[in-house]
Amino acid sequence: MTRVAELATDGEKSVDIKAGRLRPEQYAENFGDVHPPLDRNRAIIEANRCLFCYDAPCIKACPTSIDIPIFIKKISTDNVRGAATTILSANIMGGACSRVCPVEELCEQACVRNTQNGQPIKIGQLQRYATDNLFQRPNNKIFSRRPSTGKKIAVVGAGPAGLSCAHKLAQEGHSVVIFEAKPKAGGLNEYGIAAYKVANDFAQKEAAYILSLGGIDIRHGQALGKQITLAGLRKDYDAVFLGMGLAGVNALGLEAEVLKGVENAVDYIETLRQAADKGKLPVGRRVVVIGGGNTAIDIAVQVKRLGAEDVTLVYRRGADNMSATDWEQEFAQNNDVRLKLWAQPKKLIGAHGHVTGVEFEYTQLDGKGKLMGTGDTFTLPADQVFKAIGQTFVASPLQDGGRDVLQLDKKGRIAVNEDGQTSVSGVWAGGDCTEGQDLTVAAVADGKRAAIAIDRALKEKKHG
Ligand code: SF4
Repeated sequence: MTRVAELATDGEKSVDIKAGRLRPEQYAENFGDVHPPLDRNRAIIEANRCLFCYDAPCIKACPTSIDIPIFIKKISTDNVRGAATTILSANIMGGACSRVCPVEELCEQACVRNTQNGQPIKIGQLQRYATDNLFQRPNNKIFSRRPSTGKKIAVVGAGPAGLSCAHKLAQEGHSVVIFEAKPKAGGLNEYGIAAYKVANDFAQKEAAYILSLGGIDIRHGQALGKQITLAGLRKDYDAVFLGMGLAGVNALGLEAEVLKGVENAVDYIETLRQAADKGKLPVGRRVVVIGGGNTAIDIAVQVKRLGAEDVTLVYRRGADNMSATDWEQEFAQNNDVRLKLWAQPKKLIGAHGHVTGVEFEYTQLDGKGKLMGTGDTFTLPADQVFKAIGQTFVASPLQDGGRDVLQLDKKGRIAVNEDGQTSVSGVWAGGDCTEGQDLTVAAVADGKRAAIAIDRALKEKKHG
């Protein structure tokens, strides 16, 4: 029985958690595509607003350096396949990125149209228009493989970094085996992002497209440190890429964190993403979310859309300090999520083993800019409390006899150079398990960069 299901059968009288708060048709509406795609006419009109800038700042703002003016130009001339080719050649997960990228902080923020009429080109939506259009075509193959090199590379993790790395390596003629612990590919796009952002099973369709290149074998149920080991992979393969993401979750550090109803946001989001019938998911009437990032927004909006009556997101600093973008914050408020800033959790309150509320203390900055509690407190009643205060890298699967085999950086993630090379020969890493922006697009860039470096290293070895 899942943790969520346990809550449903808990039977605590003081707690109001139940499934099926909405009518069946409301779930479909609430978890459908949040950004309806552009149709052909609107896409061409939008593409014609682009100034096709020389030295375009939007390209520099894209972690995967997609040639944005070129693909937009192709859309404007109705060459949609060509546009998709430009996008996917730079970023094989351009379809997912068009849905989940914080474009308002990347390419669209850099767009010169912002200063001209305050409205950037809708780059994300145009990118989606092109890539969706390609995927829907029967003949959508645009990549091919070079002749086989005879080299075998192990990729750990089928998330954005791993899939991106595997695709590039397979293009170069290498044979790739992806080892994935979970039953599906896609990483956070499949398991960790709000359902309404990546709707209609898109993460699986995209992964299938990537694997259709050939030369990539994916093995599920294979976790590092359990079914496979780094030493074994190094022995059996010519190179190893680690794209294993973040498996740990930060704790609040409060007593009573074990109370029923106190949940990790990422666990609930994963359950929700995999639930065929969202109406079967138990959700509290009063929900408190603790955190200030996109995961906090994703859980808060999703539980609201599951029918929670009162959802409050509490963050210990101000809105400008939240890692969730302005767009995400506004989106949460438009979904009737209440944002409560400058407050930190002090105490979890419970009855009969179940959480019933959270006591918070107001916060402020002292004269040196350090966060401190003011001593004033307030209490929010809660049937469910979601912790969304960040994830951590779990290094133990890489350890040998309790000793770190790979060098870690100051934040405890895998230390890499600019090519993703780790401290151990023949082992590269990228994505969230290394330092950098925790974004799908950044992970895709890491995977591709490492694949280019691996290919170069294998060729140098061959000719050396
Ligand atoms: Fe087009 Fe804006 Fe990029 Fe210029 S900056 S090329 S207007 S999308």
